[in-house]
Amino acid sequence: MTTLTIGDVEIIALIDGAAGLLLKLGEVFPTIRPEQWEAFYRRYPRVFADTAIWHIYYNCYLVRIHDYVCLVDTGVGPGPYMGQLHGKLLDALRAHEINPEDVNTVFLTHAHSDHVGLNLNAAGRPTFPNARYVMDQGEWNFYQQPQVKMSIAPYIDRMLTPLEQCGVLDLLSGEQPLAEELSAIPTPGHSPGHMSLLIHSKGQKALIGGDVFIHPAQVTRLDWCSIFDMDEKELIATRKHLSGWLEAEEIMLAAGHFPHPGFGRIVCKGGCYYWEDV
Ligand SMILES: [Zn+2]
Repeated sequence: MTTLTIGDVEIIALIDGAAGLLLKLGEVFPTIRPEQWEAFYRRYPRVFADTAIWHIYYNCYLVRIHDYVCLVDTGVGPGPYMGQLHGKLLDALRAHEINPEDVNTVFLTHAHSDHVGLNLNAAGRPTFPNARYVMDQGEWNFYQQPQVKMSIAPYIDRMLTPLEQCGVLDLLSGEQPLAEELSAIPTPGHSPGHMSLLIHSKGQKALIGGDVFIHPAQVTRLDWCSIFDMDEKELIATRKHLSGWLEAEEIMLAAGHFPHPGFGRIVCKGGCYYWEDV
């Protein structure tokens, strides 16, 4: 099931790519011992290429409400990303008969390179020519610092900065409505201004949660952080809040790095949270 319907809203999962990550699990999660993963091998077989290799997915999402079309994240781009992946987002859009011109809004959960890769085309122009690009003001400010661009984010001036010069960038602060059925909500920690997108229509809700959870094991172990998480304390607090809320209200979650399409629920069994695909 690659399309989820929430009231009047359609959420389409788009696969940008999937691969066994070249970094080993022990390198991505240096504080987690190999034997701690064992409990999750059988529960989530699709995310383990083998016991030491994480099979990671790159999902983007398209949110459609009548003629309003919002793309959430633009994937890894033409690549090669981490030396191996070439993003397939445009093919995935085409498979759903959606042209880049049809997109009204590009919502960027955060500015990591696997989420902003297709913002701009080879000529440095917006890939989605009729869209406003929306992201968090604090995230933008952080990644515009020269020392950040120089050290951890050399891609920023190629994949993000030109959006401002092209006059297509809208920066948000705090919780903001994007449309009647869509709200951007701050979910910081993975990055300084990480945002999620809440969809609410006719009494139903879903959350596109960006990288709050990047591996299903983190739904049970809210404190398991990776080298990609920038503020662990803040992220764990975000996860605690989100998991309690999503479980209690039975809100669907779309998780960008979970097995495609990444739709599921957080359930509570025996006092522990688990991820369940739908
Ligand atoms: Zn990511």
